[in-house]
Amino acid sequence: MQHIYLDNAATTPMAPEVIQTMTDQMQHDFGNASSTHWFGREAHTVMDKSRKILADSIHAQPGEMVITSGATESNNTAISQTAHARAALGKHIITTAIEHPSVLQPLKALEKEGFRVTYLPVDENGRIRLADFDAALDDDTILVTIMMGNNEVGSRMPIAEIGERLMEHQAWFHTDATQAYGLLDIDVKAQHIDMLSVSAHKINGPKGVGFLYRDPKVQFPALLKGGEQELKRRAGTENIAGIAGFATAVQLITSEEKARRQTKYLNFKKQIMTALDNANISYAINGDIRPDNVNHVFNLWLKGISTYALQTNLDLAGVAVSGGSACTAGSLEPSHVLTAMFGADSPRLGESIRISFGAQTTQEDIQAFIDTLLPIVKRLMVKQTVQ
Ligand code: PMP
Repeated sequence: MQHIYLDNAATTPMAPEVIQTMTDQMQHDFGNASSTHWFGREAHTVMDKSRKILADSIHAQPGEMVITSGATESNNTAISQTAHARAALGKHIITTAIEHPSVLQPLKALEKEGFRVTYLPVDENGRIRLADFDAALDDDTILVTIMMGNNEVGSRMPIAEIGERLMEHQAWFHTDATQAYGLLDIDVKAQHIDMLSVSAHKINGPKGVGFLYRDPKVQFPALLKGGEQELKRRAGTENIAGIAGFATAVQLITSEEKARRQTKYLNFKKQIMTALDNANISYAINGDIRPDNVNHVFNLWLKGISTYALQTNLDLAGVAVSGGSACTAGSLEPSHVLTAMFGADSPRLGESIRISFGAQTTQEDIQAFIDTLLPIVKRLMVKQTVQ
């Protein structure tokens, strides 16, 4: 059976160039980057070169990058460590209702400790309103954490506008750029971002590696304590092969390539919508179609069709899509993102699927997906009418 992978917001396959880099690395440079002998120095050189590539990709300096095990660790560090470090200045944090659990869960823990968290609501397109942000910001605010692009619906947040508003404010500004990094040009200085989280496995790099950018003014105690790696900001022997693979993945995504992918993904959405229109299938998009969204994510409400039935039938036919985000799929919890957009009573919560495209996805894959989807939807529609 042909397998079609349309769950790239969950993770992406490693690019062949990344596998090559990592294989070479594992074969030749196994040293511990902290060792002072030749083997250690070789590993350290790889780290330095990779760190520079990662820093350049967001217009940062190598010394501002903390290499982590991925965006979960970056988000936890950026939120828990800075909130505790700044508690004397205030106890208020601003975020959105549609962040990833690796942002929301540390915030829930902080609330239990007495921090006050404002969860900005979103509109039906998954965007916050700047007026709500302005109303929430006060003298007690020490941290703002707002994602750059959403992993379930692909909406993009007004990051530069928020960065600008916080320039004269004490609050540090963190953004989870995990889904946006491979598609949007990021300039942490121009966008006034103080901290930024990224994960390699969403951009055809390896799993278990990512980074946290931090502006030099941002000081916090390490989450992982022990050795003096990462300028004492993150203890643990460095994952050299992973970091080198991450840097290779980054090098494959030039600014032109990002723009090319954005257009390609937008066209995939149009191809799917045209097919649904032509087949007279009743659907709506959860979110909106805008060229400046993170376009690899496409969340579709197929009216009257259960998410579970559709996802299972697609899986049996060889097509992988998601019923929500990978982190909540599998549990029967409705998506907190769709709940924030449409309310807890919306039928969309149980009748939507997330399709997400990747660098390797072709137009033929999309056609094969459509050819699989349409008969399944028609069959499920009949079944539900009969019941
Ligand atoms: N933030 C967002 C928006 C994500 O989509 C993900 C991955 N699902 C993460 C954070 C967590 O990243 P990682 O898998 O590297 O821990």
